[in-house]
Parts: sequence; structure tokens; C-alpha cells
Amino acid sequence: MQDSARDIWKTALGELQLEFSKHNYQTWLDKTFGLSYRGSQFVIGVPNTFVAEYLDRNQRSQIEKTLIHLTRRELQVLFRVASPDKPEGEALVAPQSGGDADFPFNPRYTFDSFVVGDGNRLAYSAARGVAEQPGKTYNPLFIYGGSGLGKTHLLHAIGQQALERRLRIRYVSCERFISDFVSSIQEHETDRFRSHYRSVDLLMIDDIHFVSGKEGTEECLFHTFNELHSQGHQIVVTSDRPPKAIPRLAERLRSRFEWGLIADIQPPGMETKLAILQAKTEERHEDVPRDALEFIARQIQENIRELEGNLNRVIAYARLLQARATPELAAKALENIAAKALSAPTLTPALMIGQVAHCFGLTPEDLIGQKRDKEVATARQVAMFLIREETDSSLEQVGREFSGRNPSTVKHACEKIASELAANPALGRRVREIRSQINAR
Ligand code: ADP
Ligand code: MG
Repeated sequence: MQDSARDIWKTALGELQLEFSKHNYQTWLDKTFGLSYRGSQFVIGVPNTFVAEYLDRNQRSQIEKTLIHLTRRELQVLFRVASPDKPEGEALVAPQSGGDADFPFNPRYTFDSFVVGDGNRLAYSAARGVAEQPGKTYNPLFIYGGSGLGKTHLLHAIGQQALERRLRIRYVSCERFISDFVSSIQEHETDRFRSHYRSVDLLMIDDIHFVSGKEGTEECLFHTFNELHSQGHQIVVTSDRPPKAIPRLAERLRSRFEWGLIADIQPPGMETKLAILQAKTEERHEDVPRDALEFIARQIQENIRELEGNLNRVIAYARLLQARATPELAAKALENIAAKALSAPTLTPALMIGQVAHCFGLTPEDLIGQKRDKEVATARQVAMFLIREETDSSLEQVGREFSGRNPSTVKHACEKIASELAANPALGRRVREIRSQINAR
């Protein structure tokens, strides 16, 4: 892959040369080279941090545009200090043979760039705690949630913070862990495997659910776990579901996962989605008006990766047309994706109440009326919470939908559900289900 990164970048430089003044080109681009191109990440080697910062701040969009044009693929550019003969150069971390790449962390996945909202606050705080005091707070830390909700981002953030403190870290995808284990057996190198994974202060395994049913690897993971844990070394894993719900997971492993803290990440509400879009636009030094961001946020309900993808589409489209990113332009840019959303009836409080009632096996009248038994009360609070999250209704407006209840009652309901979501996975699943049914309209 490195050759192709070099070649692509050379071609790109040819084009960029035409767009930069000679002086600027020599100052900023002359000594750069293509370092790697994996997935959608294009890494450019630069001679020092000064150049890295300048290019990142001022020229990233131009450079990305040129590369996207050349490769015909969406990609993101990163600048890394390195020298052409020794590409790892001053990389912040020594290559780890067990890592997924030479530098296993995406420099953009930090705690600072992680937008905190109700759905991910618990996981975020726990991750911070672990990065600050590995082995001392929650061990293991088990983070779970749907795809594209920031699990990998948090692992990278933990890793980068721990690296600054010079801890020994191992970060791998579960697939990598499995394949390392299998090949260590085939090649009679189990000792090496063992020291590789057990001589660290912090072991992070991403998407641990893939281990289910792989008995040999599970057993090995079990022993790795015990050894690290007994020495007070930190373990962090992520999964798309809680330990209980991973099928065919060995009971003893499941119980180990439950020793520490299990933190879920819930899909973001409207406010968090907007905050994320805002942050991503600023990070890219773009200027997208709020109403266009709101439009984008409405299209995507659950997946932040897709949310970001759509934002990129809109920005690219606006750039192409050299036009301002209005909601109309965003609609055009996301045409196929948006068609469904535009034709679907707008989400009203009544629709939401209907959906919640249905999901709880109740009628809308139950929710709106005065019944006070626990199930009805919870359903009512969930409906209030979701209406606040998904529509623009004020507390007063929501109160009116429920036979004129007080705004403070609505506020209390929303806060209660938000905090319960962090503690009660069953409720979380229900809310997710309602959201996805609403979105599937
Ligand atoms: P997962 O591992 O849960 O599938 P990722 O960590 O890969 O999800 O996140 C997908 C994308 O969304 C990444 O680009 C990530 O930076 C971004 N992302 C997710 N959650 C947040 C957040 N709270 N704030 C900012 N960006 C986020
Ligand atoms: Mg992930």
C-alpha cells in the first residue's frame, strides 16, 4: 500500500503545484510524501510538526479535494511527522507487531474531539477514568453499543492518553487477536503470543463479540484476562451488545466481563447530533449554516459514521457548485438518501405517542390520560423524552400533548429517562426499538 500512497501523492503534488504560489509550495509541500493509504485514511508524511499544523489548518480541504478527485474515493487526510527513508520516523509510538497498523491510533479520535451527550456520557467518563488511572477504577471496562456510535473512537482516545503517560499498550481488533492466537498455535509460538499480550499495562480489544463460539481463543482470552487482572493491569473491551447477550460466550468469560463496569452507548438525540455536526464542521474549517446541519441531522438517526459521511457529501457538493450549503442544497446532495425522509410524514408528537404506546402494548389514550401504574408512567415518560429529543417541541408544547401537564413534569420525565437509559439496558433496547420503528416509517 505504501507504494501506491507515494505514487498517488506524487501525482497530487503535480496538481497542487499549479494551485500554490511557488514560494508556498516550497515552504509547505516540497518535502512531503505519501506515507500510507488504508481504508479511507490517507497519511501524508511531513518534515516537522509546524508544517503538519499549517497544512492541517489551512490546506486540508484543498488537499483532500485533490486526492478525492484522483482516487475517486471519499478519504480523510492525516499529516504525520516522518522522514521518507524512515517512514515511522518520529511517530509517537513504536510499531507494534500485534497492532493493527504502524500507529494503531487515529490522531483524530481523542477525548477532546468526542462530543458528549446523554447517550454516551457514562461510557465517556468511564473511558476517561480508565485512561487516567488504568487498573484502578473499573477493571475491566466493557463498552457496548450499536455500530458507528463511537466505541472505537473511545478506545483510541484512551490509548493516546495512556501513550502520553508511556504505558505499555496493546490495542487490537478482536479479529486480530483471534488470528494471532491461531497462528501462534500453528507456528508453535504460544510463548511469544503470551508475552505479547500479557506484558502490558493496558490491553484493549475492539469488537470482542466476534470471539463468541471460538473456544480456543476464548480460553486463551480467559487466561490472558486473569493474568492481567490479577496484576492490576487494565482491560478494556467493546462489543455491539452487553455480555449477557453475546451468544455462545463461555460463562466464565461472561462473568469476568461483568466484574468491572459495563457502559452502554445509546444513539444520539437531535441535540447531540447537531453538536457533533457542528464540531466536525469546525474541525474541517467549513462553514455550514445551522439549518443545513439540522437537515442533515434529521436524515440519520443512529449512526454517527453515516452522519459524518452525509456531512462530507454536503460539503463536497457545496464546494463543487461553489454555493452555500442551504437545506435545499443539502437535500440535493443527499437526494437518494433524503427522498425517504422528505416523503415520510413529519414526525409529530402524536405519531411518537402512538409508536411508544404500541411498543409498550398500551393505547395512546393510556399515555395521554391520568393512569398512574408503573408501566404506563414509564411509557409516558419515554414518550415525553423522545418527543423532546426528536421534534422541536418545547416543554410547554409537550405538556399540552399530555392533557396539559406541567412543563416541569415533562422536564422531570426527560431527565429521569435520560439517566435511566444509562443504567437500564432493557429500557435502552426499548427506546432504540421505538426509534428504529419511527425511522422505518
Ligand atoms: P463504532 O466503533 O462504535 O462503530 P466509531 O468509534 O468508529 O464507531 O465511530 C464512527 C465515527 O463517528 C468516527 O468517525 C467517530 O469519530 C465518530 N463519532 C462517534 N461518536 C462520536 C462523538 N460522540 N463525537 C464525535 N465523533 C464521534
Ligand atoms: Mg468500531
